[in-house]
Amino acid sequence: MTAQLIDGNALSQQLRTQVAQRVQALKAKGLTPGLAVVLVGDNPASQVYVRNKVKACQDSGLHSVLEKYEASMTEADLLARVEALNQDPSIHGILVQLPLPAHIDAQKVIEAISPAKDVDGFHMASAGALMTGMPGFWPCTPYGCMKMLESIQYNLKGKHAVVIGRSNIVGKPMALMLLQQNATVTICHSATPDLKAMTLQADVIVAAVGKRNVLTADMVKPGAVVLDVGMNRNDEGKLCGDVDFEGVKKVASYITPVPGGVGPMTITMLLVNTLEAAERAST
Ligand code: NAP
Repeated sequence: MTAQLIDGNALSQQLRTQVAQRVQALKAKGLTPGLAVVLVGDNPASQVYVRNKVKACQDSGLHSVLEKYEASMTEADLLARVEALNQDPSIHGILVQLPLPAHIDAQKVIEAISPAKDVDGFHMASAGALMTGMPGFWPCTPYGCMKMLESIQYNLKGKHAVVIGRSNIVGKPMALMLLQQNATVTICHSATPDLKAMTLQADVIVAAVGKRNVLTADMVKPGAVVLDVGMNRNDEGKLCGDVDFEGVKKVASYITPVPGGVGPMTITMLLVNTLEAAERAST
């Protein structure tokens, strides 16, 4: 078997076209959705991420503001900026790029964002909404994974999904979203004694660890769907995921590549959440 690719670039393009159309419809009513991206410090990876997010907004017709601050910015000053953005009617989504410098309590900053503008979906209110099935904002990366499953019309009902990783931004919300779609969900982590025994039972595997080759072909049931969230560098310095792509694609039915898989979907879902925030604000 050779797995079919779930192409995150192509799917993103489709979804971003829909976003652009909805943005135009809102603009016609006099409302331009706006995203504020706040970057503190000069982490090179963060600089690339925020640039990509701002560009994606511009390409889809959203208003975007990039606020850059020195790494020495105080926590109080950052909290004051977040509060000002909470009050700004031209801004519907606020994203504070993580990681923040060590002297700033990132959780405190996230909790300062108005839940109505929490388009990253990291606020406790958003986590609670996901947990209880109430309306809120879903974290963009697992939300993007769900869209990828939807794109292949995968019915999760009665299927066994194994999520590798339990972070608050990927693994845990991923598991809750799969559960909401009636999958039976297993969450694995660094203290899972026999990962292979778990993954071999899975119809769907989501790898969100941050280590190369966490998932190899011998760990995958033939025909399983494999989503690779990981972002790592191989020996040549090239971007790669958590999954041994070349091996696993011979066993899986569908697989996401890295790059060009979950990564572009994350930014796309940020646009979707920001648009949604603006639509909610307009009603
Ligand atoms: P994280 O907070 O470091 O969490 C990693 C998780 O993996 C933890 O739960 C950890 O377990 C678990 N883990 C570590 N070693 C393991 C092992 N050998 N077997 C099973 N589980 C293991 O990372 P994250 O923020 O969730 O991100 C995960 C990866 O996704 C990273 O590569 C990150 O760069 C990438 N990512 C990509 C996107 C995207 O847009 N494509 C977005 C976000 C993140 P413990 O909890 O026990 O420590």
